[in-house]
Amino acid sequence: RSKSQKALNECVKVIVRCRPISKKEKACDGASQVVSTYPRRGVVEIQNPNEANKENRKTFTYDAVYDHSSTQKNIYDEIVRPLVTSVLEGFNCCVFAYGQTGTGKTHTMEGIRGDEEQKGIIPRTFEQIWSHISRAQNLNTFLVSVSYLEIYMEELRDLLQPNCKTLELREREKMGVYVPNLHSVTCKSVEDMITVMNQGNKNRTVGFTNMNEHSSRSHAIFMIKIEMCETDSNTVKVGKLNLIDLAGSERQSKTGATAERLKEASKINLALSSLGNVISALAENSPHIPYRDSKLTRLLQDSLGGNSKTTMIANIGPSSINYNETLTTLRYASRAKAI
Ligand code: ADP
Ligand code: MG
Repeated sequence: RSKSQKALNECVKVIVRCRPISKKEKACDGASQVVSTYPRRGVVEIQNPNEANKENRKTFTYDAVYDHSSTQKNIYDEIVRPLVTSVLEGFNCCVFAYGQTGTGKTHTMEGIRGDEEQKGIIPRTFEQIWSHISRAQNLNTFLVSVSYLEIYMEELRDLLQPNCKTLELREREKMGVYVPNLHSVTCKSVEDMITVMNQGNKNRTVGFTNMNEHSSRSHAIFMIKIEMCETDSNTVKVGKLNLIDLAGSERQSKTGATAERLKEASKINLALSSLGNVISALAENSPHIPYRDSKLTRLLQDSLGGNSKTTMIANIGPSSINYNETLTTLRYASRAKAI
């Protein structure tokens, strides 16, 4: 493709976060670190552990690169804070966490509960939103509401109403895509939003014996809608923020997998590749954006493209153990936006 001819869409950003090496990886015999990061240049290099020749390293460039020393606060302040500021001005935004299971998607989005420093993106957005509201509420009235759903096997489940049947996606002229009966909770404070988030997280496990397996195979979508009315002029603005912890991007091994597992895997692949296609079409300002190929991209259609801003955080680990999956993630991220 012709990178130099067309200007890339700056509303689409793709960044890479490499987590620290884990104890388990360190203890693994014969394993080495194959990823090198150059945050200042936005570059990641990866070395094939089976090839001694350093000339064969592969190099990728992204909008930003975060290494093992980056903090939750760094990522929030540099990547997400400006997006939330846009939402509070009436824009729609999406933040996706992509990557193989175990690379830090949930760590990045939610972080560690009750740990001030290790708090992830989602709870930090609550604080920014309410600190803005407390400063602006003499001139505006705000209505903040939250929905939380997941897509599992291309079906929508309401995480705030776990017992209701699967949700449908509908489309209507003028209204666009919408989800009838999707539960939405009005929130009045940071604490309210944390309560709703925790409740949804708890409901993610309902009906599944293995929470980790389930969460690595479903996409969790946390939606915040902020309606703002300027008291003097009576002008209304609406901003939406979608925070998505995607299903694990790892390939299922065909050996030993049940038919159900293979079906799951093919739905996950479909959704992730369709998301990649949408983001890359947006990044290249293409006239045709293929929203219709998956539930995920249809659901988020009004927050992807147009005036909206999208950031994909591709999570990776540094160890040779995961060389193939890490290379696949780096390629996916670089196809989503080729810099
Ligand atoms: P995923 O959601 O992609 O499957 P997790 O977020 O559950 O991955 O992370 C896997 C493990 O790695 C967890 O124990 C998590 O605490 C740890 N981890 C992930 N990212 C980081 C990081 N940047 N710093 C420290 N630990 C991390
Ligand atoms: Mg996870």
